[in-house]
Amino acid sequence: MIWQQKWVIGNWKMNGSLKTNQQLLQALQTSVSAMAEQVFCGVAVPNVYIVSSCQLLNSFALAVGAEDVSRFAEYGAYTGEVNAQMLADVGARFALVGHSERRLYFQEDNSILLTKLHNCLAAKIFPVLCVGETLAQREAGQEKEIVKAQLALLSELSLSEVVVAYEPVWAIGTGKIPTTTQIADMHQLIYQQILSLCGEGVKIRVLYGGSVNTKNAAEILAVPHVDGALVGGASLQADSFAAIIQAACVPAL
Ligand code: PEP
Repeated sequence: MIWQQKWVIGNWKMNGSLKTNQQLLQALQTSVSAMAEQVFCGVAVPNVYIVSSCQLLNSFALAVGAEDVSRFAEYGAYTGEVNAQMLADVGARFALVGHSERRLYFQEDNSILLTKLHNCLAAKIFPVLCVGETLAQREAGQEKEIVKAQLALLSELSLSEVVVAYEPVWAIGTGKIPTTTQIADMHQLIYQQILSLCGEGVKIRVLYGGSVNTKNAAEILAVPHVDGALVGGASLQADSFAAIIQAACVPAL
């Protein structure tokens, strides 16, 4: 069922507190519960808040996930790390992998990201692989090659389900968004790549991320091959996140 639905996933980044999380999640429960049947909704939260977020949401249909996962699969002497098994143990259902902020600040490349994908799959939490070009790469006309190279690691895994978030780096947190034609072109390319790397039977969701807000969500979500949204800033307020989920309830024309 979730492979036919739109997905809306929030990315809290390094934000939140026990108090504000409770307010946000309780407000979402009230405003989103009817829509949660039609849209697969989730929030990627800082690791320290996974347990309390799961407890607050209880059986409510909003998945809690992690914003990252360790490259190390096993337990042991990796100070500061949290492995995929631990994330699953505390209730995370998914993890973002390769967000551009991780690629930028932590030098995460395909070899690191491949281990993270493996670890998520082994722990049965689904990875959301984030890809996207920088402004310089877009201006140099390299965006398709860059995204293809970022997706290439999928050929190393035997996947029956793939979730990718296309997030142009220059659109994240900037208020700038690509045109709907640019989004459609890239999403179509991502679909083609996934099908050729993983085989025709693979189930696919390709989310768009980068400055999605209440005003542009409906237009973006109506673009062909846009299966949902990964939402940063606008997921921190219940009203705006709920409005984006509402926009995802409208069936594509
Ligand atoms: C993100 O960080 O994944 C993101 C899409 O951020 P924003 O919506 O704030 O651009």
